Amino acid sequence: HGQPTDVAIETPDGAVHIGQNHPVVTIAGPCSVENEEMIVATAQYVKASGAKLLRGGAYKPRTSPYAFQGHGESALGLLAAAREATGLGIITEVMDAEDLDKIVEVADVVQVGARNMQNFSLLKKVGAQPKPVFLKRGMSATIEEWLMAAEYIMAAGNPNVILCERGIRTFDRQYARNTLDLSVIPVLRSLTHLPIAIDPSHGTGRAEYVPSMAMAAIAAGADSLMIEVHPNPAKALSDGPQSLTPQRFDRLMQELSVIGRAV
Ligand code: PEP
Ligand code: MN
Repeated sequence: HGQPTDVAIETPDGAVHIGQNHPVVTIAGPCSVENEEMIVATAQYVKASGAKLLRGGAYKPRTSPYAFQGHGESALGLLAAAREATGLGIITEVMDAEDLDKIVEVADVVQVGARNMQNFSLLKKVGAQPKPVFLKRGMSATIEEWLMAAEYIMAAGNPNVILCERGIRTFDRQYARNTLDLSVIPVLRSLTHLPIAIDPSHGTGRAEYVPSMAMAAIAAGADSLMIEVHPNPAKALSDGPQSLTPQRFDRLMQELSVIGRAV
């Protein structure tokens, strides 16, 4: 598999590189974009703490159709405002190929969520557009299936794929939302040249478990972290229980800075 893939992401602040030969890149932000004030404030906080990319969902894959579904297109405009205000690059999820063109106008990285990891027609379409793709592992996907999903994107012409472990289905939901499979880090390293990201927020489902898993991910050699941060987790419209406050995120970034390749 040769040279490690170096994914270069164009942001207003300049190129951000994710790959083995670069410092760890932290992606942070809320689960969902709720309103302009919160997304801009969160962007400012996470940037000050050292995040290089802002995450935030406009189109949300919610288990219940009655739960908040994301603000859709209007949230894309708010992400653009946060990008403009802070210089951070933007990553957001595409659920439906119909929305891809307008997402690509705003996003610097396109996220394919766990539930769409094997949506092959969507994978072909994100493979045919120019922005890097953040491919989350399906919650019951084998490593082989995950790598083949990445192959769909690359075969369609886009070599810039980042693999993100976000926890696999657990039998013990009393204590964790998912089982975060950190053992994929050395396994993927032996199998692929693609960069490896870890999402300890969805991986555990609990804010109090996020810092230790983030540190473990860095120690094990992850190239990037994705962490949910919300200015008021108790009031979040989605994934509040797993979201760090900006203050806790700032402390985590300081803790991470002493481990391995963290910035
Ligand atoms: C998310 O990142 O907000 C998300 C929905 O993640 P996943 O696809 O891993 O559940
Ligand atoms: Mn979420």
